[in-house]
Amino acid sequence: MRPTRHAVVLGGGLAGTLAAAALARHLEKVTIVERDVLPDGPEPRRGVPQARHSHLLWSGGARAIETLLPGTTDALLAAGARRIGLPSGLVLLTAHGWMRRWPETQFMIACSRDLLDWVVRRQALAQPGVVLRQGLRGVEPVGTAERITGVRVRDEASGETSVLEADLVVDASGRASRAGRWLTDLGLPPVHEMVVDSGLAYATRIFRAPPAAGKDFPVITVQADPRDGRPGRGGVLLPIEGERWLVTISGTRGGEPPTDEEHFLEFARRLRSPVVAELVEDAEPLTPIHGSHSTANRRRYFERLRAWPDGFVVIGDAVAAYNPVYGQGMSVLAGGAVAIGEILGRHGLRPGTARRLQRALARPVAGAWKTATGQDVLFPDVVGPRPSSVDRLLLRYVDRLFETALSRRAAAEAFIDMLTLSAPMGRLIGPKALLAAVRGPAAPPPSEPPLTADELTRARGTAGNAP
Ligand SMILES: Cc1cc2nc3c(=O)[nH]c(=O)nc-3n(C[C@H](O)[C@H](O)[C@H](O)COP(=O)(O)OP(=O)(O)OC[C@H]3O[C@@H](n4cnc5c(N)ncnc54)[C@H](O)[C@@H]3O)c2cc1C
Repeated sequence: MRPTRHAVVLGGGLAGTLAAAALARHLEKVTIVERDVLPDGPEPRRGVPQARHSHLLWSGGARAIETLLPGTTDALLAAGARRIGLPSGLVLLTAHGWMRRWPETQFMIACSRDLLDWVVRRQALAQPGVVLRQGLRGVEPVGTAERITGVRVRDEASGETSVLEADLVVDASGRASRAGRWLTDLGLPPVHEMVVDSGLAYATRIFRAPPAAGKDFPVITVQADPRDGRPGRGGVLLPIEGERWLVTISGTRGGEPPTDEEHFLEFARRLRSPVVAELVEDAEPLTPIHGSHSTANRRRYFERLRAWPDGFVVIGDAVAAYNPVYGQGMSVLAGGAVAIGEILGRHGLRPGTARRLQRALARPVAGAWKTATGQDVLFPDVVGPRPSSVDRLLLRYVDRLFETALSRRAAAEAFIDMLTLSAPMGRLIGPKALLAAVRGPAAPPPSEPPLTADELTRARGTAGNAP
């Protein structure tokens, strides 16, 4: 009889649970090792502090999750998440002006990150063969530079260590992953790492939505204009479960948002449009204001190592984390987990598979990295390499396409496909998008936020003088 094939996944965050779901279709047993004790409900926890801030799950990511765990979207909607059509349900101020609310071509799932994680975890743990070991920390992989055979773990309560044997160890331990260090300890060369840091900071508060706002209230986003030479300041109003509005304000170095009550709304009011502040200024705050500075773009090029140990793979933020303004991290890692399943299905777990997996995981990362760092390098005092002349040319084209997207539907569709990670970057240079960009804007953008009269009336439950 074939011995049981066992994978250990380090980290029970989104990357870990989705990787486990993908692996469970091909291996008999998958153990998720998570250092936190996980809540039995949509509640905050220590290991994912960014969960307090707005988390947009684009249709590209939602589809990937659905492929791995069918029924997850319905489970999220049943728990109060909203499905928001895009761009019809998006009130977006871009660097070039307000975007028209073109008919829906994509969508997003709007909910708290706590709800998303809980629902996905519940679905993943219901897969045959998936086991969760909580309160257990992954210390280091065990094996050689040629082959990893397990992982040393430590019980967070007792301090006892032991080894879990595995055919595959997946590191999904997030931004603070020590995978690079583990590989050099095994004798492999250092992993090249790139950081582009605009000094972006986030501040977030949840408000009670006006009772009349309804379940189809749009997402409001005010973006910075990187061309004005000032720190980039922006804001998002995200309708989430429980008839609540989650408001995140953000700013790059020199323009960081305040985390005190007195100045939170004042900052929102002084954005390129005051719409977010005006919608919530009379709303009841339900939480304190939470800040975050863990927003630098950080990419580790594991796929470039000449040698790679069999039985070891790194996924999620442990590979690349991005400026969160574009909301890419979760959708990219979900696509990566799908790739894990496809490659295991095609090649099985044999010598060379881990390396193949690591290379496949780098592909979706590359496009997201370009999106996130492309704009960031334009802000003042950014730390990181300057863009090459090819990158600058690409940026000019993309900028033109985005400007055209405000008034030409073909450009808007390409932009939304790219934003929602529903198509590769190549979509931006498809024939229709290219033609639209060459023709350029067809009309000036709307001068006011494109909220309907009905939406404004519904919002007036708390915003007497809403825009
Ligand atoms: C402020 C902010 C806003 C964001 N907004 C968005 C957004 O709008 N849309 C989007 O798609 N993405 C967004 N992101 C990115 C998103 O949060 C990440 O891409 C995603 O959480 C990465 O998941 P992960 O599982 O790789 O890592 P994490 O979510 O960091 O999970 C890592 C897990 O590993 C556990 N762990 C760590 N070390 C160990 C260990 N040694 N042993 C065992 N367990 C361990 C941790 O407890 C945790 O459970 C945002 C990020 C930030 C910082």
